[in-house]
Amino acid sequence: MNRLRNVEIKFVKGIGPTRGELLKSELNIATAYDLVQYFPRTYVDRSRTYRIADFAGEMPAVQIRGRFVTFNTQGEGAKKRLIGLFTDGTRTIEVLWFKGIAGIQKAYQTGTDYFLYGKPSLYEATRTWSMIHPEVDPAEKPGAGEGLHAVYPLTDRLRQRGVTSRHIHQWIVNVLERYPDLEETLPPMVLGELKLPGLRESLVAVHSPRDPESLRRARERLKIEELLYIQTDILRTARRNKTESHGAVFAHVGHFFNRFYSEQLPFALTGAQKRVIREVREDMRSGRQMNRLVQGDVGSGKTLVALMCMLLAIDNGAQACLMAPTEILATQHYETLRAMAAPIGIDVRLLTGSTRKKERESIHAGLLDGSVQLLVGTHALVEDTVQFRNLGLAVIDEQHRFGVAQRARLWQKNNPAPHVLVMTATPIPRTLAMTLYGDLDVSVIDELPPGRKPVATYLRYEDNRLQVYKGLGAQLRAGRQAYIVYPLIEENEKLDLKSLEDGYEVIRETFPQYKVAFVHGKMKPETKDYQMGTFVSGEARILVATTVIEVGVNVPNATTMIIENAECFGLSQLHQLRGRVGRGADQSYCILMSKHNIGRDTRKRLELMTHTSDGFIIAEEDMKMRGPGDIEGTRQSGLAFELRISNLATDGRFIQLARRYAERILDDDPTLTAPYNRVFSRTLALNTARTMDWGKIS
Ligand code: ADP
Ligand code: MG
Repeated sequence: MNRLRNVEIKFVKGIGPTRGELLKSELNIATAYDLVQYFPRTYVDRSRTYRIADFAGEMPAVQIRGRFVTFNTQGEGAKKRLIGLFTDGTRTIEVLWFKGIAGIQKAYQTGTDYFLYGKPSLYEATRTWSMIHPEVDPAEKPGAGEGLHAVYPLTDRLRQRGVTSRHIHQWIVNVLERYPDLEETLPPMVLGELKLPGLRESLVAVHSPRDPESLRRARERLKIEELLYIQTDILRTARRNKTESHGAVFAHVGHFFNRFYSEQLPFALTGAQKRVIREVREDMRSGRQMNRLVQGDVGSGKTLVALMCMLLAIDNGAQACLMAPTEILATQHYETLRAMAAPIGIDVRLLTGSTRKKERESIHAGLLDGSVQLLVGTHALVEDTVQFRNLGLAVIDEQHRFGVAQRARLWQKNNPAPHVLVMTATPIPRTLAMTLYGDLDVSVIDELPPGRKPVATYLRYEDNRLQVYKGLGAQLRAGRQAYIVYPLIEENEKLDLKSLEDGYEVIRETFPQYKVAFVHGKMKPETKDYQMGTFVSGEARILVATTVIEVGVNVPNATTMIIENAECFGLSQLHQLRGRVGRGADQSYCILMSKHNIGRDTRKRLELMTHTSDGFIIAEEDMKMRGPGDIEGTRQSGLAFELRISNLATDGRFIQLARRYAERILDDDPTLTAPYNRVFSRTLALNTARTMDWGKIS
C-alpha cells in the first residue's frame, strides 16, 4: 500500500499531467495512494429501474431504461441546447443538455437501449417530465443498470473542466488493477479478532461495491484503520509526555493560596471547582508535567479555578501566566485577576499587542528577575522575546482559538516545561475530546455556582418584534443592559454588514434615550475596543454586534440577549452567545429571532435551545446534526489530521475500539520497534508526516 505513495498522480492510467495538476490543486490528491483513499461521498442504487409513467411529485434521482426517439438542437451560441426525446414504452420524457453538445450527439444514437440516471422534474404548463444532463450508459455495457455506484465529491472547477465522478471511479479502478498486491496495513491481531476484510478487498468493495453487506464491512475496516493510526499517534504522544516530560514539583500550599482563600475569596467554591483544583494540585506535585483540559460550561467559574491554581504555582516560587484569545478578554481577565490578587501582594501585569513600549520593557524585566509573578495577555505571550525567570504554570483560556502548536511553544518557555492548563467552555462530546485533545487529561466543572437562574429562552418571529422590543424596553428601564447579535455569514459580507448596520439604526431610533455601542469584526481593533469598553463600563446600555462578543465577555448587568437570524447559527454557537447573559443574580432572557419559513430540522434545533441549557446535550445534538467539522471551535483548532472516511460524530464506537487496540499495541511494544510492527510503524510514520507532528515539538 505504501508504495502507492510514490506513484505520482499524473502517472495513473487515464490522468496525465493536466488533470494530475487539477486533482492536486482541487482535491489535494497528489499520488495514487491519495486517489484510492479518496472515498465516495455516497452511493446510488442502480439495481432499481423506474417506469416513467410512475413519476409523480418531487422525485429523487432515479434510473430509467429505454431509447432515444429523436435529437434536436434549439437556440444558438451560449443558449444552444440539445433535446433528446426518450421513451421507456410507458411514457416519453425530454432529456436536455446545455454543454458538450457535439460530443453527446456523436456518442448516443436513437434506437439503442440505454440506462439513464438523473433527477426528473416536471414542467407544469405542458405536464412534461425532463432530465438535465443525466448519466447515460448503454444497456449492454457490463454492470450497467445494476448494483451500487460510487459518487465522489467534486469541486465546481473540476466539473467545469469535465471531470466527473465516473472518471474518478475509473482511475481508481485502474490503480487497483495495476497494483494487485497491496501490503496489508492493519496489524494481524486487529484483522483477526475483528474478522475484518483485507486491505485490497476493502478498497475494491468500497469503490465498486457488489452488495451492501460487503460495502458495510469494507467501510468498517477502513474506518477502524484510519482511527487506529490516529489514536496510536495521540496515545504515543500522551505516553511520551507522561513518562519523559518531567515537571516542576509544587508540593506545598503556601501563603498566597491560603491568604486568598481566607481573605479574598468572594464566595464559596462549588464542589466541582474544588474537585478540579484538587486534580490540578495532584498533577502539579506528581513530578510529571501537567497537560490538563478543564471543560466547564459558560459561567461555571473557570477564572477562579485558574487563579487558585496559579497561586499554587506562585506559592512554590514559580511564575504563572494566563493567555486569552482576544485583547478584550485578556483585559477583562487582567482586571478580574488583579482585583483579587493584588490585595494579597501579587504583581499582576497585562501584555498585549498594544502594550506601550515602556510598560512592555518593564514587564520583560520583571519577568526575568521574577518580580512579575502573574502575567495576563494575548498570544503576545508566546513570542520569543517574552522570557520568564521560572514559568511554572501556563493557563490558556478558550483554547480553541489557539492551535496545538502554540501550546507547544509554551512548553519551551521553561525548563522543565511549565504545567499547562487549558480551559474551554466549548462542551465537546467525549469521543471528539478523546481525539481532539487525546493528549490531555480532562477535568470537568459540571456544576454552576448556586443561585443561577437558567436563562429563559424564547423563539420569536418577525411579527413578534414589537413585543420583543417592549420586553427589552422594560429590562432597560430596570437599569439592565442588552446584547443584540447578528450573524456574519462570510459568503455575503456586504449584505451581512448592511443588515447589521440597519439593525443598529433601528435600535437607536427605537431607544433614543440610551447609548448604543456597535461592534463588528471588520472594525479597527482600537474602535472595537473603545465601543466594547463603553458597554463593559455600563455607559452604553445596548451592544449591537456580530459574534465577536462570543467568547468570555463578562458583564453581569446584561440580562437580555437578542439573536437575530438565529436560524443561521449552530447550536453550540447559540449556546455560547446565550452564556453572555445570566451571569448575575437577575433573571435573564435570550430571544432567538428567526425567519418564519425555516426547515423542520432548523426549527427543531432552535426549539431544543428553548428547553435545555445543558451544554453537553447541545453539543451532542449539534454534532449529530452538523458533523464535527462544524462544531464551533474545532474548525479553527483544526484537527491535526485529516479524516478521509470516519466521522467523529457518528463513529464513536469505532473510535473506542481503535483506542483500545492502540493501547494494546503500545502496551506490547511501546516504541513500535518490534519486527512484527514493521509495517504498522512505517505506515504510522508516513501518515503522521503528512500532518503536523506535534508530538515532537516539545
Ligand atoms: P467561565 O467559566 O464562563 O469563564 P467565569 O469564571 O467568568 O465563568 O465566572 C462567571 C461568574 O461566576 C463570574 O462573575 C464569577 O465571579 C462567578 N463565580 C465563579 N465562581 C463562583 C462561585 N463559586 N460562586 C458564585 N459565583 C461564582
Ligand atoms: Mg471564562
